[in-house]
Amino acid sequence: MRIGSGWDSHEFKSGVPLKIGGVDLPHGQGLAGHSDGDVLLHALTDALLGAVAAGDIGSYFPPSDPKWKGADSAIFLEEALRQVRRAGYEVANVDSTLILAAPKIGPQTGRIQARVAKLLGVRPDQVGIKAKTPECLGTDNTRQLPAWRCCSCRWRKSVRRTKRNQQKRSSRGSAADSANAADFC
Ligand code: MG
Repeated sequence: MRIGSGWDSHEFKSGVPLKIGGVDLPHGQGLAGHSDGDVLLHALTDALLGAVAAGDIGSYFPPSDPKWKGADSAIFLEEALRQVRRAGYEVANVDSTLILAAPKIGPQTGRIQARVAKLLGVRPDQVGIKAKTPECLGTDNTRQLPAWRCCSCRWRKSVRRTKRNQQKRSSRGSAADSANAADFC
């Protein structure tokens, strides 16, 4: 089991679409960035790479490279997922918190959760999406500093279950199952 964390922030900018978690959201401003500015996918990308000690988003997609200008951040997450699988792991779950004053994320949570789950190849109930307003964080809380913090990712070593393995697992009983369950957050 491995854990990774990632963090990112972008500034709101007029004239660009707002994209969070691979979902276009209705809002008067978008997020400035070299790519599409999707802070959630950037934080998740770093979390996945960190979990398998495979560098960070900048080492794969440097902002100095014009190739990534306006790029869909799903590309970054797909590369991180490839690195996770290459290391022999799979995503167990991810959790995230969006810190921003507007727009309200609550009504969009289901869409974001479904999209991120699809990108990661997991079920929606393995993707936590939460949002908080940035009170007392040194911002004026007027939509100028959105930030995603993604701080909990866990991985399971890929194991091919043979019949023998399954029999061994079932013979260990509920105590082992409880121990495994405790590894999840
Ligand atoms: Mg970023």
